[in-house]
Amino acid sequence: MEKPKLISEDGVRVDGRRLDELRPIKMEVGVLDKSDGSAYVEFGKTKVFAAVFGPREVHPKHLALPERAILNCRYHMTSFSVEDRKPLGMTRREVELSKVIREALESIVFLEEFPRTSIDIYVEVIQADGGTRTTGLTAASLALADAGIPMADMIAAVAVGKVEGHLVLDVCDIEDKYGEADLPVAMAPRLNSIVLLQLNGRLSREEFQKAMALAREGISKIYQMQREALKRKYSSVEEG
Ligand code: UDP
Repeated sequence: MEKPKLISEDGVRVDGRRLDELRPIKMEVGVLDKSDGSAYVEFGKTKVFAAVFGPREVHPKHLALPERAILNCRYHMTSFSVEDRKPLGMTRREVELSKVIREALESIVFLEEFPRTSIDIYVEVIQADGGTRTTGLTAASLALADAGIPMADMIAAVAVGKVEGHLVLDVCDIEDKYGEADLPVAMAPRLNSIVLLQLNGRLSREEFQKAMALAREGISKIYQMQREALKRKYSSVEEG
């Protein structure tokens, strides 16, 4: 397919956004009954549920660690989340994303407070339109907070892209597909710590610095929305 024009002369993107604009975002915590904590997060057409169980007994028991909890994470895309035919089993990409999401979360959860237990996190992509790992991480950290799991901070995440020579915040699928670079970034903002950083494509040193500044701006807005989503749930519990 021929590459479509993605940014107009006056800097407007395919979906009408400015270069530094996030997609419309929705966040809600406590959306599922069966898990200990849950969240739903939407970035434009990207829609993700996250559910958390635990701390709970480890199965099989011999995997339990005497000094800390095990964090298990499964990132999964539903068969109807993408246009192409998606294999039913876990793809290599899903295994990789489960690992990077787990490693990011391990850096903020106080695992040593729950020895011999496991904390199990499920990230389920309902619809994918770019940025599912960052949306998944944002949802997973909300679900952990909803489960009452002690953490040093929450994680907020977004991807910056380079499209037709411009740096753009919060890339959607078509920008990811046809763009020159994609830089997913996740941070624990209060700790000022970067917990995930991947780069697909090439950026100059100067572009990388600008992209990181753009990511930080987006992340601080997303972090604020996470705090508000948590407050919405817990203030309504107090009132009710
Ligand atoms: N995608 C797809 N089919 C797949 C995997 C990905 O259509 O099997 C699309 C989907 O919209 C996804 C985007 O490609 O969000 C970018 O995927 P990437 O691997 O860069 O991860 P993401 O940006 O979702 O974290």
